[in-house]
Amino acid sequence: MAEKRILIWHRNDLRVHDHEPLIKAVKSGAKVVPVYCFEPRQFETTPYGFPKTGAIRAQFLLESVADLRENLRSLGSDLIIRRGNAEEMIPAIAKELEIESVYYYHEVTSEETAVEKALSEALEAIGVSTKRFWAQTLYHVDDLPFEIREIPELFTSFRKQVEKSSTVYDVFPAPQRLVGLPEIDRGEMPSLSDYGLEPPKNDPRGMIPYKGGETAGKARLEEYFWKQDALKVYKETRNGMLGVDYSSKFSAWLALGCLSPRYIHAQVQEYESKRVRNDSTYWLIFELLWRDYFRFIVAKHGDRIFYRSGLQGVKIDWKEDVDRFELWREGKTGFPLVDANMQEIAATGFMSNRGRQNVASFLTKNLGINWQGGAEWFESQLIDYDVCSNWGNWNYNAGVGNDARGFRFFNIIKQSKDYDPDGSYVKHWLPVLKDIPAAKVHEPWKLLPVEQERFNVRIGVDYPNPIVDLFKSAEANEKIYNAAFPTSSKAPQRERDRRSHPKPQKRR
Ligand SMILES: Cc1cc2nc3c(=O)[nH]c(=O)nc-3n(C[C@H](O)[C@H](O)[C@H](O)COP(=O)(O)OP(=O)(O)OC[C@H]3O[C@@H](n4cnc5c(N)ncnc54)[C@H](O)[C@@H]3O)c2cc1C
Repeated sequence: MAEKRILIWHRNDLRVHDHEPLIKAVKSGAKVVPVYCFEPRQFETTPYGFPKTGAIRAQFLLESVADLRENLRSLGSDLIIRRGNAEEMIPAIAKELEIESVYYYHEVTSEETAVEKALSEALEAIGVSTKRFWAQTLYHVDDLPFEIREIPELFTSFRKQVEKSSTVYDVFPAPQRLVGLPEIDRGEMPSLSDYGLEPPKNDPRGMIPYKGGETAGKARLEEYFWKQDALKVYKETRNGMLGVDYSSKFSAWLALGCLSPRYIHAQVQEYESKRVRNDSTYWLIFELLWRDYFRFIVAKHGDRIFYRSGLQGVKIDWKEDVDRFELWREGKTGFPLVDANMQEIAATGFMSNRGRQNVASFLTKNLGINWQGGAEWFESQLIDYDVCSNWGNWNYNAGVGNDARGFRFFNIIKQSKDYDPDGSYVKHWLPVLKDIPAAKVHEPWKLLPVEQERFNVRIGVDYPNPIVDLFKSAEANEKIYNAAFPTSSKAPQRERDRRSHPKPQKRR
């Protein structure tokens, strides 16, 4: 065989723009062979029994892969699709097409790196080399002012040093044209039913009609930055919960690599030169740095992020209260802000950052329940699930993360009043509360019987009574939390395995 062929193994990099492996393979003069594997392991169940990839994200994934295929076709190539584990599918293609090398973006968590290891061993056995590239972050790992093992444990010191000493690399251009694929079965796209999933309902209460893929991701950026001109007020609006443009909504496209953070950064720079440069334009990059931070921290600490004792290795006596966990999961806690957010994630796969922090605080600080269950439910449901951002944020919010600041509990009632002053968010997701005036809607349990009649709601019948006293429960859980520190700080007892936590039984 005369021509050199490089296989591009697409994973969470479902795009052709800013794609280092793709462009480097093209520049080497090789013919590129793009491949995506739908791996059965993506569709297994979590230890708590949730689908690892819920229907909403699965749909988004299918759309994203289909879009990548279209984009590759329009460049003259195609995407080979296989249903099976990469370490079996890719060597088979490599053999069939006499591939010289396989290029891919490297992941940092154990399940993903185990696949990489198995794949490179299988390829080595047939004489095919592999080349891996650093993925996903805005700042490249090679340009950090410290080694991975020296990444600061505090976000602020990480951010300050990076901002001072590092630069964001230029975006790699998309290839202009690709050479057509050799003769091979291209493979069919699977459908949701192949994984036992029902098509998601597209709840009309969802604010943004998510569509997977690089094309839709770029369109969202175009809309948010250039058409709505919303970036200039991002810092003021980003804590919102209702509507499309209070925040960028880039996360789902970022998680699957349909959008690259460097592309967003370049667009922010363009916006700053053409429109305005202000605190808001800076703040979007600041938030992307949080995303980087969690990935680098996982690269440093590995699987500890999944342990019940978290990155701090602190053995807190978390409860495994199945009944209350279910009430939280189903949005039936009696606290409208928590319930509305839990309805939103179940219906749409999305929840605002403000919402995520509040529901995580409620689960861990008011119910005192093991945070791993919450993280797994998010993993299952989120359209933007990103392993490092999800587990990192849960560590942080549960108070077991490296940068966690002790027992920080969100006062749900105050949060509701501050961030949803007219109650429109909670009424949107909990229509049973719609007639209650704004001043009373955040504490419906305080309504007198005569008010309940007037506002068409029966507390305890149409809408639940609170399942805990907000302040007493926080006080009790603070004691449990603090009790873990004096001994554990000397000799932290770490869980060894993310799968080690007890499996809650099904609710009767
Ligand atoms: C408990 C919990 C779990 C979370 N799980 C995930 C997850 O699985 N995937 C995910 O992408 N984000 C997660 N986040 C972070 C954050 O809530 C979402 O990134 C954000 O709400 C997405 O909306 P957006 O794109 O409109 O964000 P914007 O406010 O527009 O922010 C722009 C981008 O910055 C990044 N970003 C913003 N805040 C954070 C943050 N706290 N941590 C990491 N990156 C951030 C995201 O990539 C986001 O798209 C989680 C937060 C919490 C508190």
